[in-house]
Amino acid sequence: MKLSRRTLIGAAGISVIGIGTPGVVSAQSWRGNFGMMPRFKNARSVKPPNPRAEIAMNLITDAVGIERTIKLYSAHITKTRIAGFATTLNGTRYIVYDRAKVPWPETITPWTSVFLMAHEVGHHVAVHNFRKDIQKIRLELEADRFAGFALSRLGATEAQATYYYRGNGPETITHPSSLASTASARAGWKLGERMKRREQS
Ligand SMILES: [Zn+2]
Repeated sequence: MKLSRRTLIGAAGISVIGIGTPGVVSAQSWRGNFGMMPRFKNARSVKPPNPRAEIAMNLITDAVGIERTIKLYSAHITKTRIAGFATTLNGTRYIVYDRAKVPWPETITPWTSVFLMAHEVGHHVAVHNFRKDIQKIRLELEADRFAGFALSRLGATEAQATYYYRGNGPETITHPSSLASTASARAGWKLGERMKRREQS
């Protein structure tokens, strides 16, 4: 596994085109795929993503071995507490993130933004849009666990992989408490680390 933290910094931070990571679509060619912007409930001003968000998305899907078929957009999400969401429209999978709440600075790896993206990928990978039989909170925890796992694969430290839910947010009808989410992210991260050790032995 060669997706080290440095790879992600290089990929997400400096150059957009010609990074040499297999499967990374250049900002140019990806932009070319955008014609009409799709419309989403609770999202306004839908636009192509930040190129670094696109690269992070490619690294996440590479890290967990799925094809890069999820379409990514940025938007202004009208629900104040929501930074991003995963949805399926007419058989196409989408992730939409809020431009103001999910920053992509050039100089550092924005692990919290990468975590958010990995969490949304987790919803798709675990097919949560079709799981109406399970409590929403349990789906969120599963997505958090997946995100922690993906961040381990990408070289994040435990602190980086669990920073997203810092603070002491209470449980709501749809979302777990910060503590529960952090515990799930940590469990996923530890699983990723255990796998790394197994691969090395
Ligand atoms: Zn979620």
